[in-house]
Amino acid sequence: MAANGSKQKSDAEWRAVLNKEQFRILRQKGTEMPNTGKYNHFSEPGVYTCAACGTPLYKSTTKFDSGCGWPAFFDAIPGAVVRHEDRSMGMTRTEITCAACGGHLGHVFKGEGFATPTDERHCVNSVSLDFSKDEAEKAKAAKENGKDEL
Ligand SMILES: [Zn+2]
Repeated sequence: MAANGSKQKSDAEWRAVLNKEQFRILRQKGTEMPNTGKYNHFSEPGVYTCAACGTPLYKSTTKFDSGCGWPAFFDAIPGAVVRHEDRSMGMTRTEITCAACGGHLGHVFKGEGFATPTDERHCVNSVSLDFSKDEAEKAKAAKENGKDEL
């Protein structure tokens, strides 16, 4: 896995590799409109990577349907995301960024009562993610899903 901060770039460099919406969200901590993201209702088995630097961030096995309008995960790949206190917009929230490039992903909310192993909701912008389908992951996911139903 990429070490923390190993994929940092200047704003000018990011502008060159990201589209306008990706730059607004990943680098300027924007938020996509709810229910518009391409991964909001998406449940293929595979791995979600950082749209900016390609580092794997979330597995499809931790994605769940929260109904909030953005892709939701109950856990990240260990070490892949960093949490920061965010006091913007008159509230205290936990911002999450990609550990490798510092790109803004979204926020983590805790204790909402979702029936997940962590009771956390990583609310992530689809724009901040890419998806890579993984056949091995698919087989594993089928196995894990079988276990969860017990
Ligand atoms: Zn990244």
